[in-house]
Amino acid sequence: MDFALSPEERLFLENVRSAVERHVAPHWVDLDSGRYPLERVIAGLAQSGLAGFTIGEEYGGQGGSFLMAALAAEEIAYGDPSMSSAVYFLLECTWPYMVQLYGSDEAKRQVLPEVAAGRAFIGIASTEPHGGSDVAGTTTLAREGSDGWRLYGEKSMVTGVSTALGLPYGGGFVTVARTGPQEDRHRAITLFLAMVKEGGEVRAGFRHRDHEELGRGGIPTAYLYLEGLEVPRQHVVGPLNGGFKVAMEGFNLARAIIGAASIGVARWLLDRAREWVKERKVFDRPIAAYQGVSFKYAELYARLEATRLAVYRAAWLADKYYREAAPGYTVHDVAAAGAVAKYLAVGLAVEVGLEVMKWFGGASYFRELPVNRALLGALSYYVGAEGAENIMKLIIARNLLGREVD
Ligand SMILES: Cc1cc2nc3c(=O)[nH]c(=O)nc-3n(C[C@H](O)[C@H](O)[C@H](O)COP(=O)(O)OP(=O)(O)OC[C@H]3O[C@@H](n4cnc5c(N)ncnc54)[C@H](O)[C@@H]3O)c2cc1C
Repeated sequence: MDFALSPEERLFLENVRSAVERHVAPHWVDLDSGRYPLERVIAGLAQSGLAGFTIGEEYGGQGGSFLMAALAAEEIAYGDPSMSSAVYFLLECTWPYMVQLYGSDEAKRQVLPEVAAGRAFIGIASTEPHGGSDVAGTTTLAREGSDGWRLYGEKSMVTGVSTALGLPYGGGFVTVARTGPQEDRHRAITLFLAMVKEGGEVRAGFRHRDHEELGRGGIPTAYLYLEGLEVPRQHVVGPLNGGFKVAMEGFNLARAIIGAASIGVARWLLDRAREWVKERKVFDRPIAAYQGVSFKYAELYARLEATRLAVYRAAWLADKYYREAAPGYTVHDVAAAGAVAKYLAVGLAVEVGLEVMKWFGGASYFRELPVNRALLGALSYYVGAEGAENIMKLIIARNLLGREVD
């Protein structure tokens, strides 16, 4: 076992840090406040090879590993702890990769180079107003016609609709839709790469409305009303009626990188708190002199270090299974490790956020002090994004105990 990064990974990390210092960190508060466009951050990341980072070189991408993606996600979230930039980065490491794995040659050739150039966005449209955890209960309908498919239904909490509409080429969503009877649940679900803007042209057949969000102000999340949006046959992702499994694979991969981004937020918060607890004097002593503060700092730091290992392992397993097709690794290993990574890291980031806000005292409640923006970013993943905490436990328990736990 070797805990050191390879020379290639170390060099990569240095390059990511300088890209983040240039394109992300100086702008994150303005991005979170809606005063700086995400498109400019995307252009900067694309210039540094960080758009659609896991997309293969044959489609203009970097062919980056998931471990490197995890390293980058931590740094990007450290540079923008509101998480908006990291959310963009991790979604583009995941859903375009699923298109690459399961999409048609035509769809891959058409869309992936645009994502890798930072000119297009591919997200996920799974959640519906009746709930997000029960993906097998999807009610959005896909109807087949002579010229392809049309989608009808309502998705909610879809991140990046405005982002796709704001990019020069456009983008779309790996969309979960029903292609058979409701009672067939996960066996009658297909994935479609539904483009909302393509080649610079906004498509007909959909509407959207941004949610009013607590945090993550740089990357809006929206209702997506599908009103007959056309999807050509070549934009079916994976087998007909076999989309449920593919969607789960995408979520598994995303969760490892979400874990890494959450580590970045937690590290940023602890770093901001370090100077503060040494400087802030209460009852004539720096608050770091009180063990109620310093022991908690030590505990959170120790958990951060341990959680980072779980995150790296999840990303490493994803590389073993997807990139190396190494014998002895299964998709269940990737699923369980991704759930562990998300469960531990997101919970930790939220706990660190609450604790650090207490150390900063009342001032932390006001927008002038950016620590609350970091807590709100982490909270998005705590309450649900890419799977609720109980669902992470369900996946882990199912992997350990079998389907009896369902
Ligand atoms: C900021 C943000 C961005 C998002 N972006 C996207 C996106 O881009 N695309 C997308 O498709 N979705 C997105 N989502 C939605 C997200 O995927 C859902 O919030 C998540 O899947 C949970 O669904 P839900 O919120 O409807 O909760 P529900 O599914 O209604 O669950 C409610 C509660 O019940 C618990 N629960 C459910 N089932 C069980 C069980 N069997 N055992 C124990 N507890 C259970 C859950 O843990 C949860 O606490 C986003 C959410 C947020 C907050």
